[in-house]
This record gives sequence, structure tokens and C-alpha cells, in this order.
Amino acid sequence: MLQGARHAHMRALNSAADELKISLEIFELRNDRDLINANPHAIILPGGESTTMRLTGNDISSRLLPELFRMLRRNSELPVMGTCAGAILLSDPQDDGGKIVDANVDRNAYGRQSESFQSVVNAKIISREFPGVFIRAPRFSSLGSESTPIVFHGEEIVGVRTKNRIALTFHPELSKDNSFHKWLISTALEVKS
Ligand code: GLN
Repeated sequence: MLQGARHAHMRALNSAADELKISLEIFELRNDRDLINANPHAIILPGGESTTMRLTGNDISSRLLPELFRMLRRNSELPVMGTCAGAILLSDPQDDGGKIVDANVDRNAYGRQSESFQSVVNAKIISREFPGVFIRAPRFSSLGSESTPIVFHGEEIVGVRTKNRIALTFHPELSKDNSFHKWLISTALEVKS
């Protein structure tokens, strides 16, 4: 909840939970204590501006990012969805630890804001086509051995999975289709049971 497209994710999570007929509690995480107290069953890293997220999340007043990365490295089962800037943080944590999602990513790789676009993507992980919203999106330049491609835009990989963590270069929360949020909740239920 430091910055970026977080409220749209909350709406998508609530509608996914309604459709799955489960109750859901959403925690708004702004600092390390929020995360420790919440001890969540799943985590979303929203899109926005990764530089701003790094500055605010590493700042002494928050320390959310170091705690988040520590928690994710300790628990590779924990379902995580990083979208756009969130995908950048997962693939390139820029701390002393390893990648959370095993891919290399280039920021702003389609160009400036005016090069943002919408296009249907082939989301194998949810077995369907999905409306992809790409806003000053990053691009995966390569995938490591720990990751599998899960979403394609034509030939291009726009979604990657490492364990229960997915990194998407587009914004699923900005479409009416909440399948990715359902995937996150369903995976959390599987891990918990
Ligand atoms: N351009 C942003 C960055 O580099 C990502 C854009 C987004 O999250 N929509 O962090």
C-alpha cells in the first residue's frame, strides 16, 4: 500500500472472494510491523513506480520491503502476485538476497507512457484469454531455470511463475476479469489446507 494501483486490487480481490464464496480479510501493508502482524496467506505487490516503491519501502519509516523479501525467501509456498512495478521488485529485489521470481526484467521497455496499450493475452495459468492492460510496462529479457512462462502476448512472455509466485508485466486488476485474483485466493486455500 505504499504507492500505485492498490485500490483496484482490493476491489478485484473482494469480487473474486464473493464469486468463490469465501470470506476474505484484506490487510493494507505500509510498514514491516503491518506485515508481521498480518501474517497473510497471500500477498499482492501492485503496479506503480518501482523507484518510488523502493525509496518508500526501504525508508526507515516503513522498512516494508526488507521485511517482505525476508518473509518471501523464508516461505516459498506463500502465494504472491506482483503486477508491473510489483513484478519488477520480485524479479530484481536489489538487496543482498536472490531473486524472488527467477527472471530478468527491463523497466519501461515498451517506451514512454504514450506507448501504453491494451491487448488480449493468452493466460495459460488460468486457461483463458485475458484483457492485458500494459502501462509503461516492463519486459522480461530472460527467464531463469526456476521459472516457467504462464502468460503470452503473441510470442512474448508477459507472465512468469516461480513456485507460488507470479510476476505479470500487465495490470490484471484493471480488467473486469478477476481470474488472476481467484488464482491467488485458490492457491492460498490449497497451501493452507
Ligand atoms: N514503469 C513502472 C516502473 O518502472 C512500472 C509501471 C507500472 O507499474 N504500471 O516501475
